[in-house]
Amino acid sequence: MTPASRSPILAADADGIRRAARQLRDGGLAALPTETVYGLAARADTDASVAAIYRAKGRPSFNPLIVHVGSTQQAEDLAHFDERARALASAFWPGPLTLVLPLREGARLAKAVTAGLPTVALRCPAHPVMRAVLEQAGVPVAAPSANRSGAVSPTTAEHVATSLAGAVDLILDAGPCAAGVESTIVALRSGGWEILRPGPVTENHLAAVLGVAPLASGGRHGIEAPGQLASHYAPGKPVRLEATWADPDEFLIGFGDVAGHLSMSARGDLEEAASRLYAVLHEAASAVQPRIAVAPIPKSGVGSAINDRLRRAAA
Ligand code: AMP
Ligand code: MG
Repeated sequence: MTPASRSPILAADADGIRRAARQLRDGGLAALPTETVYGLAARADTDASVAAIYRAKGRPSFNPLIVHVGSTQQAEDLAHFDERARALASAFWPGPLTLVLPLREGARLAKAVTAGLPTVALRCPAHPVMRAVLEQAGVPVAAPSANRSGAVSPTTAEHVATSLAGAVDLILDAGPCAAGVESTIVALRSGGWEILRPGPVTENHLAAVLGVAPLASGGRHGIEAPGQLASHYAPGKPVRLEATWADPDEFLIGFGDVAGHLSMSARGDLEEAASRLYAVLHEAASAVQPRIAVAPIPKSGVGSAINDRLRRAAA
């Protein structure tokens, strides 16, 4: 059997959605589209299914997974929500925001999902295909990005097939992801709140709902989110940032006035750049040039998430 035949790519129609939901209920792995990137999904309440995610990704087991739910009510069965959590959920769910909250005692989740932490990361995604699968599966679903650990995240079904061929039971293809960078992760602590990973929901969006500025970061002990690892999203070649020209051995990723070999957004639009970020990194990785250079990207709005991912890709 070829690897491709072991990871069939199915259209994300009613039949594909039914088959993905059944695969999850039966304990299998399904790569599913979300509004951020493609996720490698398995039921979050079963040790063997969660172990299969870590194995397929080659992910270190100290890196906890985000649990995806179909509703805030389902999320409240798993974690303690305070007023701030409810305000954020009602403002941004379904959508690209992950909340790190105190784990509820007796929550039906595999231990490995939270990597033994007393907290759990929860997200209610907006993508209609992911929502339909969650509803039909009827269980909380762990779903990290559908790529080998540390590599560039997938925003198309083809990216998933290239990275994980044979390691996943099926791939649902719903075209390219709209947001293109992973969800914003927010930790709500007793003394305030903190962004663990910047994403499509910006600090200003969050502060507007919470009414206060985030905690100054730095008081943290150890790594809470793998997105915090210095090297992540690695394209497998050296990456030079803030480049306005290309050396002869460089593939230049452009933005705005810097044209490059390929542009994240020729019109200088940050949302478009976010949605194309990983696709252009995949292109740059397979280009003939042995090095990659990337044009400066403004830091405002979702530009903060783009710069965060580029810094780690370059590390
Ligand atoms: P990924 O699955 O690749 O999108 O990454 C999931 C992110 O969520 C990682 O950065 C995890 O470290 C983070 N995460 C998951 N659970 C927790 C938690 N309980 N506390 C802090 N971060 C978490
Ligand atoms: Mg990832």
